[in-house]
Amino acid sequence: MSGAMQDWDLVVTHLIDHAAREHGQREIVTRWADGSETRTGWADIRQDAKKMAQALGALGITKGDRVATLAMNHAHHLVCWYGATGAGAILHTINPRLFEDQLEYIANHAEDRVLLYDAAFRPLVDKMKSRWTTIEHYICLDDGEFRQWIDHQNGDVAWVPVGERDPCMLCYTSGTTGNPKGVLYEHRSTVIHALVALQPAIFDADPQSVMLPVVPMFHAASWGLPWGGAATGIKFVFSAVNDPAVLCDLMRRERVTHSAGVPTVWQAMFHHMDATGDTLPDLRQAIIGGSAAPRFMIERLMRMGVNVAHAWGMTETSPIGTTGAKTYDWDDLTFEQQVDVKQMQGRAPFGVELRTVDLTDMQTVLPRDGVSSGALQVRGPWVIRRYFKAEEDAVNADGWFDTGDVGILHPDGTLQLTDRTKDVIKSGGEWISSVELENAAMGHPAVAEAAALGMPHPRWDERPVLFVVRKQGAQVEAAAIAEFLADKVAKWWLPDAIEFVEDIPHTATGKISKKDLRARFSDYRLSA
Ligand code: AMP
Repeated sequence: MSGAMQDWDLVVTHLIDHAAREHGQREIVTRWADGSETRTGWADIRQDAKKMAQALGALGITKGDRVATLAMNHAHHLVCWYGATGAGAILHTINPRLFEDQLEYIANHAEDRVLLYDAAFRPLVDKMKSRWTTIEHYICLDDGEFRQWIDHQNGDVAWVPVGERDPCMLCYTSGTTGNPKGVLYEHRSTVIHALVALQPAIFDADPQSVMLPVVPMFHAASWGLPWGGAATGIKFVFSAVNDPAVLCDLMRRERVTHSAGVPTVWQAMFHHMDATGDTLPDLRQAIIGGSAAPRFMIERLMRMGVNVAHAWGMTETSPIGTTGAKTYDWDDLTFEQQVDVKQMQGRAPFGVELRTVDLTDMQTVLPRDGVSSGALQVRGPWVIRRYFKAEEDAVNADGWFDTGDVGILHPDGTLQLTDRTKDVIKSGGEWISSVELENAAMGHPAVAEAAALGMPHPRWDERPVLFVVRKQGAQVEAAAIAEFLADKVAKWWLPDAIEFVEDIPHTATGKISKKDLRARFSDYRLSA
């Protein structure tokens, strides 16, 4: 016997159809790179997406072709998300901060046929054109060219039919080792992820929400916001520049209630607020992810009356893996205990299964006891199975994907991320978390940034060395930092050496690049 309900594939065009039908007038505000502002609504976005799908069809783009963007956050980029997928194509959002070799690699590997780009990236596009071998059409998004291109069409066209297991989007990982790898999202995985992300513990979105996503539309599918936003009809406020003064001004004027960004974004906002006295009176939901949110950040936002959704995820998980929800006994906890909860990476929503396994054999499943730390593995309908064009699956026989992260699972399911598998320091057979050392050091008032590496040691295998960038004008010596760390980490975790450096290298997504730091200090030796 088969079920007796309707066929209604989970495809992303349903999201924009819904938004236009049920929330057509809900605004989409853009503050463009030149300082001008425009206001459209979900119905306009859909109409422009229809025109774009038609224009792509006129260029000969068909189902499964790759349509790339090199763009910041704005209404035209949102149109591209729905226009490309509505044409049956695969939207490939390229991160403009990647290095030139990576940019060359991913556009060629993806076999992009069309590139839609911001005028601000024209110099980059001009430079790369001769190296991109598959792109046939270049369209500028914000100098009138895009408008003209789509306005040749009347928008009177049906979405190109696709199935829910067909691909809709391609994102490449930032690639801390080797070439970037492509993650090919499906319509179905994208829609399920979008619906789950709307819940209170994650985006907490409803039609009253006014969301300014600082997370770029080119990074990890912008955490699914452009899709989820359409399902709820939230008002979007986009800024094509990430200047904290501009963001704060927009947030105040547009009465922004929700925002999402990596920790460095929030840090820049705090700096600006401290310097100018600016406030964010309407903000009530701050989604922080991409790297660990420091304690002071969570505390400050909570004191502002903002709910912090500290989320863990990765491009391979669409990207949401876990998020810091309030616990059932939240109201009985002290403020300090509440901050403790939010500092961890939270729990898995329905649709994500988590487990940790022994770091040495990579298969013994560890207990959820709040102490055993192991390799974090995930599975679920929006978790990767195989990288784009790869020969083999990226999961084991039981479907578990190894995240490359190291964490502890607590009895209530809360994930506490402690490191990356490649960065965890092995000293005398025991593991030291480089991230915990860094976080502890970052609490010192004279430290601007810190990174810990495991350095070869003749007796202990590896021992931690801490690299520190001093805050401008700060005078601090190694002994003072060592003393500061003494009551924050176990004694045997204390670094064997603390080295001061001018800067610490970062990846294109703003994370500390341990690979580059390691290369810089490849000759470094500790003595017994
Ligand atoms: P990406 O695919 O570029 O988004 O990078 C994903 C990686 O970022 C994860 O595998 C983690 O190592 C790291 N990451 C993401 N969110 C968090 C978080 N809340 N805390 C610590 N690390 C995080």
